[in-house]
Amino acid sequence: MIEIIFKILFVALFIIYITIRVPFDKTYQRQEIIKKANLLKEKFSLLLISLGLLLMPLLWVFTSYLNFSKMEFPIWVRLTGIAISIVSLLYFYRIHKTLGANWSPTLEIKKGHQLIKTGPYKTIRHPMYAQMWLWTIAQVLIISNVIAGLSGIIAFAIFYFMRVGREEKMMIGTFGDEYVEYMKLTGRVFPKCKRNV
Ligand code: SAH
Repeated sequence: MIEIIFKILFVALFIIYITIRVPFDKTYQRQEIIKKANLLKEKFSLLLISLGLLLMPLLWVFTSYLNFSKMEFPIWVRLTGIAISIVSLLYFYRIHKTLGANWSPTLEIKKGHQLIKTGPYKTIRHPMYAQMWLWTIAQVLIISNVIAGLSGIIAFAIFYFMRVGREEKMMIGTFGDEYVEYMKLTGRVFPKCKRNV
């Protein structure tokens, strides 16, 4: 019974995630792209994400194939996962609103692309990836299954380390010194420590 409740909660959170994304994806479809990163790397990393954050959790929700790798997390741990997901979804909405038409699923620069440095982007350069770290940690806690839980965080870790450096290079190539200055004031996913000189 407990397992079913967590499966329903997980699906509900996932539906909210998709619902937040859909309008931004529609805007994205209408935009003119002027610069694109290596498509093969992009497709590979998105495939990884789909396997780890979608396919494996769906197998856990709808089949019993992964029962052999079940973990026995206490309920409070799984509820902590739910709480982290809710916080991460609120953050996700705010980030999407702030990034607006500059968002894209793969690395791209659009016509009229603006460098956003406000709101969630004021202290860190990659709030959406920070949000994804939270989401994948929550996935481990909620699902309580070695394979379906860890697949998300492992897939996202590979995605993150394959993408973040290339993304910053692309941003420097587009915004030049403005992005270099922005990098000096911000951290990737944690705010930069300010040192008193
Ligand atoms: N890395 C960011 C954005 C992820 S969406 C984050 O984690 O929040 C990926 C797209 O966002 C990239 O194609 C890039 O063109 C764009 N992007 C990244 N940082 C940006 C910024 N500060 N302002 C505007 N666009 C940005």
